Amino acid sequence: MMECTPSSNFKEITRHTDYFKNVVEPLLATGCEEKLCEWMKKNCLISKQLLCPVEGCGQEPMRWSKARVIDRYNWICVKCKKKLPIRHESFLADLKCDFSSVFTAIDGWCSHKLLTEFSDNKTYRVTVGKRIYSMCASAAESYMKNHPELGVLGGKTPDGEDAVVIVDVFPDGSMTLQPQNNNNYTKKVLCVADTSHIPARVWTQLLENSYEEDQSKIMDIVIAHVKPNSTIVTSHILYPFIKNVQGYSEVINIKTLMTFDPAEHQRSLKNIETIWATTVETCQQVQNLSPNAAEQLLWELHWRQIFGLDAFRYILQHIVQYTNTSSQIVISAPK
Ligand SMILES: [Zn+2]
Repeated sequence: MMECTPSSNFKEITRHTDYFKNVVEPLLATGCEEKLCEWMKKNCLISKQLLCPVEGCGQEPMRWSKARVIDRYNWICVKCKKKLPIRHESFLADLKCDFSSVFTAIDGWCSHKLLTEFSDNKTYRVTVGKRIYSMCASAAESYMKNHPELGVLGGKTPDGEDAVVIVDVFPDGSMTLQPQNNNNYTKKVLCVADTSHIPARVWTQLLENSYEEDQSKIMDIVIAHVKPNSTIVTSHILYPFIKNVQGYSEVINIKTLMTFDPAEHQRSLKNIETIWATTVETCQQVQNLSPNAAEQLLWELHWRQIFGLDAFRYILQHIVQYTNTSSQIVISAPK
């Protein structure tokens, strides 16, 4: 049925293109401050130009000058001598630590590192790290909310095939072959995965009630997030609720596949487990979170499934957009 390389787990997904290691990390070395600043300007992380804000000075263009400050430079007005930090009007202005710590922490968020992994760095403070992690999560959430089209999955693949979309529910469905005690899980999460992408793109949403009570909600989520011309594969739990949804090539119950071809089905189940690995991990993590924090983590999951392979480059751009600094660069989403 669906062939999929085993890439849907955290470690695989976060093996981003080493942009941080190859491009950014070398710029964080002592003596590279000027190059680092050029890179930050090019990527709109700091202002490229600034006009003197002092009233009566005539909006004089400010210049850079070397300074005995942590960033090594200041903006200075040659006319009235007004000085401003080079972080002025940037998200970096709110972060009280050196650039190296900021970018290392952003890379840490991209790579799922625990905050404590930075504690050996003297210039790094956990409170600042928490703020940076929270900023990354908020930027990812904001980006996904502003691009609802990324949450509409399936349809025709570029080869003209009908995409296979799996619709299932955590913890009761067939997302994992591992035996688990479902009583440990109080939050149910409806999960949709478009297997025509690697890693699979996902949509997830918390369900509040029993399946019967949430039947119309389940159908609405499927209709809103799965394009027509998709083949839907679903577990026995959800099959009764979505088998009659119109507009799809086919709605297949995983159990039916099993009846016809047990050997083939076992392989399919293994593939399905691989596809869901990251989603299952996230569904487990949301169990102990407040509703708001749980929702944010699910948005973050959606974001990572799309941008995770090149997370550092994308999250920088999305932070810039989120913090609404002046000029912006745009790199399009991966196909
Ligand atoms: Zn001035």
